[in-house]
Amino acid sequence: MRGSGVVLAAARGVRLPCQPGVDWCMWALRSLLRPIGLRTMSQGSARRPRPPKDPLRHLRTREKRGPSWGPGGPNTVYLQVVAAGGRDSGAALYVFSEYNRYLFNCGEGVQRLMQEHKLKVARLDNIFLTRMHWSNVGGLCGMILTLKETGLPKCVLSGPPQLEKYLEAIKIFSGPLKGIDLAVRPHSAPEYKDETMTVYQFPIHSERRYCTQQPLQSPRRSPNRLSPPQSSSDFTPAENGEHLPDGNSTGVGGKAGGRDPSLVVAFICKLHLKKGNFLVLKAKELGLPVGTAAIAPIIADVKDGKSITFEGREIAPEELCTPPDPGLAFIVVECPDEGFILPVCENDTFKRYQEEAYAPVALVVHIAPESVLTDGSYQQWMERFGPDTQHLILNENCSSVHNLRSHKIQTQLNLIHPDIFPRLTSFCSKEEGSALSLPTVRGECLLKYQLRPKREWQRDTTLTCNTDEFIAEALELPKFQESVQDYKKSVQESPAPEEKRSQYPEIVFLGTGSAIPMKIRNVSSTLVNLSPDKSVLLDCGEGTFGQLCRHYGQQIDSVLCNLAAVFVSHLHADHHTGLLNILLQREHALESLGKPFQPLLVVAPTQLRAWLQQYHNQCQEILHHISMIPAKCLQKGAEASSPPVERLISLLLETCDLEEFQTCLVRHCKHAFGCALVHSSGWKLVYSGDTMPCEALVQMGKDANLLIHEATLEDGLEEEAVEKTHSTTSQAIDVGMRMNAEFIMLNHFSQRYAKIPLFSPDFNEKVGIAFDHMKIRFGDFATVPKLIPPLKALFADDIEGMVERKEKRELRMVRAALLAQQADSPEDTVPQEKRALAEEPHSPQSKKESMDSI
Ligand SMILES: [Zn+2]
Ligand SMILES: [Zn+2]
Repeated sequence: MRGSGVVLAAARGVRLPCQPGVDWCMWALRSLLRPIGLRTMSQGSARRPRPPKDPLRHLRTREKRGPSWGPGGPNTVYLQVVAAGGRDSGAALYVFSEYNRYLFNCGEGVQRLMQEHKLKVARLDNIFLTRMHWSNVGGLCGMILTLKETGLPKCVLSGPPQLEKYLEAIKIFSGPLKGIDLAVRPHSAPEYKDETMTVYQFPIHSERRYCTQQPLQSPRRSPNRLSPPQSSSDFTPAENGEHLPDGNSTGVGGKAGGRDPSLVVAFICKLHLKKGNFLVLKAKELGLPVGTAAIAPIIADVKDGKSITFEGREIAPEELCTPPDPGLAFIVVECPDEGFILPVCENDTFKRYQEEAYAPVALVVHIAPESVLTDGSYQQWMERFGPDTQHLILNENCSSVHNLRSHKIQTQLNLIHPDIFPRLTSFCSKEEGSALSLPTVRGECLLKYQLRPKREWQRDTTLTCNTDEFIAEALELPKFQESVQDYKKSVQESPAPEEKRSQYPEIVFLGTGSAIPMKIRNVSSTLVNLSPDKSVLLDCGEGTFGQLCRHYGQQIDSVLCNLAAVFVSHLHADHHTGLLNILLQREHALESLGKPFQPLLVVAPTQLRAWLQQYHNQCQEILHHISMIPAKCLQKGAEASSPPVERLISLLLETCDLEEFQTCLVRHCKHAFGCALVHSSGWKLVYSGDTMPCEALVQMGKDANLLIHEATLEDGLEEEAVEKTHSTTSQAIDVGMRMNAEFIMLNHFSQRYAKIPLFSPDFNEKVGIAFDHMKIRFGDFATVPKLIPPLKALFADDIEGMVERKEKRELRMVRAALLAQQADSPEDTVPQEKRALAEEPHSPQSKKESMDSI
């Protein structure tokens, strides 16, 4: 126990003269806090306390409004691009009205972008999905878990009927998803109607026949195909020693209940008509009884377009009302490859809207590759909507920065050390968007198209990545430049020893936050480059592929081809939901670089298989992508596995040039593992996964060169750490010291430490803290701890805020302890203590804190 633990112990242990009263309390608290060097509140900055927030206020407002909303229609409606369709971000669209918020598609990283750009996920009550493909549903697991945490009672998912099974599959690793009602509205359900609009969904079936044995026709033109080049799978239930509940015999190619790659669902959304506004001044001029009860029926009538008779005079509605706003429609259609072109072009529902029989179409959103857009019939189909319809394109050729904050922080960190913090690349396709026969608009992150009150494109929120500005901002920070110079001087004075200057292994931290992907820190993933052409991924949280894209830019395909194995420590969503995308994108990469396809070695808890199997059965073929080694088979003293698994283990060691790949059970959830890698050249690297301090890990990791250990919480939160089965910084450091590790890198920080964690007093020359996109080699061990002063200067503001929060928490704990002492009977103690501790305001922090248990 350190920090506040000491304060609390002191408060509990010392019998103080019992004088109730606030002043006395403050005096007592200050005198308790000062001796151990904590700053008092008065020294903090003049931050205003945030008002308590209620993430579900909108639901209560809606309840109050009751179900009796009339068909008045919303005043403001716009569509906004969340993700423009790039390879690293998928295509996703947010639709806003004052009554409702909707999301179309939810690929990996969408939740992170919504968080960064303040599009509140707690307001989403409808998610529409155009296709059961990872690019559309990859972020849905994480999104649903967050919505559940937020307390949203219900969310409706519309789209392919397989969504139902997809939700079942999520439960394999998330548990029963209690507390949130997830309703699936398959395309066969009747239209959906709420305060904003009516949504019609309908299926479009590709004219291509999909089947497992279909040979690859044109890899370049159909990257989204679902058939593997080889039908043989190294992954079979029998081979891996366990029987799977649901064999791989489910329907393919449209069979009910199974996956159906030939299906996309299109959406036509028709806004409710907006009545005109009543012209009060005009009414007064005409002598109408404005301001009395008699005006109400008159207003109702003219708004409904009826004439009224007043004092024997007939007045037309146009005289008293602005014209009504028509119920415009917008369409979201995905056309993933050429096989869908004809079915889209010949679709009768679209034809009716092209003829304006139903509603004028203001906008069509096309989620389609260039090969579809440049097709003559597709262009003709687009033209048939007429000149008043706008066309928005979302695909891989839309290049736009999305994760602006990540770019900003990396540009600033780069000033401290250009190799350890390399600049990010703006990943974009090599090809420019083709010129089309009609005007179109290419997607950009946060680009808006407003439907009401005025139809127009709005670019005021789109992002510009101005690196010069980021640099200037950092350079202006007090003490920043100075501490960078001091750091550089100290490094020149003591260069790294010669023998340590090997290029490999090289460790690239891709995600260093816990629980939910946030703008600065993505969830767990670390790439270990073993040699120039071999690497291993340690965990693979949502968005890992996107992080790789932003780190490696155009080299991404060769990075994926070099990937030899993935270690999944445990089945919490922040550690494994990025795996599917790595598998799918790796296949794409092998194809485009003309390399033979081979399944990827995956070391994971056996439970991973059930999730992959379900996804494979219902959504996309995936099982042939992996050769799985159950993590338990690599434990020391594990019984000999089946011959096929033994063969895979030999293959793993041989491919990665490793002497040993060992795992051990750690103290977190069930089936959570840590791992140790010993390379043939002698180095040893240990990764903790998520765990409380763990003796088995200490033993397995003895004398490691590098320990990568989770440090979810700051010191002083030991109790919370136990509750959530994580470690505090000091505990993580202690494990490393007991292991006799040469160096310890801390990661998996709670998202409450968005930019930088709080430093514990036992940080020493053997400890470094990880940032997303940080790249280190063993030769950097001496330099990494020296980065701390410039980092502290760069994040001074944030550190101050966190210290303030820590102090407030400690004050509450002391107060609780004092109250407990004053209480007469022991029974009173607990409630009072609890009340005092519970007084923390309901802040945006609380969601991040409650999520830390994963
Ligand atoms: Zn975790
Ligand atoms: Zn976990």
